[in-house]
Amino acid sequence: MEIELGISQTALAAIGLLFGLLFGSFLNVVILRLPVQLKGDWRRDSRDFLGLEPEPEQPVTLAQPASRCPSCHEAIKPQHNIPLFSYLFLKGRCKSCAAPISVQYPLVELIAGLLAAYFIYQYGLSSQSFYGLVFSYALLVLTGIDLHEKLLPDQITLPLIWLGLFANLNGNFVSLNDAVIGAIAGYLSLWSVFWAFKLITGKEGMGYGDFKLLAALGAWMGWQMLPMIILLSTAAGALVGIAGILLAGRDREMPIAFGPFLASAGWIAFVWGDAILSGYLRLFNF
Ligand SMILES: [Zn+2]
Repeated sequence: MEIELGISQTALAAIGLLFGLLFGSFLNVVILRLPVQLKGDWRRDSRDFLGLEPEPEQPVTLAQPASRCPSCHEAIKPQHNIPLFSYLFLKGRCKSCAAPISVQYPLVELIAGLLAAYFIYQYGLSSQSFYGLVFSYALLVLTGIDLHEKLLPDQITLPLIWLGLFANLNGNFVSLNDAVIGAIAGYLSLWSVFWAFKLITGKEGMGYGDFKLLAALGAWMGWQMLPMIILLSTAAGALVGIAGILLAGRDREMPIAFGPFLASAGWIAFVWGDAILSGYLRLFNF
């Protein structure tokens, strides 16, 4: 299904870029607030379960309270909250206290904008563009949260599995067969690595969130892409891990978040996987 508006693909992509920048602001809020909200929920549930008095503080949600500077707690004015441009205009510093603003804000906004422009330029206003963007934005949010919190929330990974299966009900990306097997094989492959590693070394090398994320990637693009995703993500993870130990003196016992590597490898496989696979097969004359 594709909608024709009679304007050029480039103009549509430019509109997509602006839309993506705006949506990126919202993704920033999700990245920063969803973990706070979840931890608050867990704390309240635990206190309730243990029969303790409820906390007096107001729970944080995605909408409440309004955005404030984390340093001086000054409310952020609407004109200083324009995606990307406010950051550039304010030269990356808070208007009232000049504390540096995290580069995460403009970076997530820019990536969100470029993703929207890319999908709309490639696929127009189609279901492929819509699904591709939802998929990419979910990966972006998971990457941000995992980098901050070493956590891949079920609230995002599980719906991403269902949505991948749903998108492939009528074969948007792969057949439903490949998608279902992809989801199961994605979960089980990392689950087995986790338990093998744990039985041999006694340590936990990954979290259950990683299994669910790979299940989601399998649901979206079929089991055929799983070997490539695992290969790319573990190679990149190992490189970054070794570089961190050698160059930055990072403690080798300190865990690194695996989610961002899975998400990036998954995105590459989603967009260029077929090209990579066929190039690889041609190379070896299959
Ligand atoms: Zn400030």
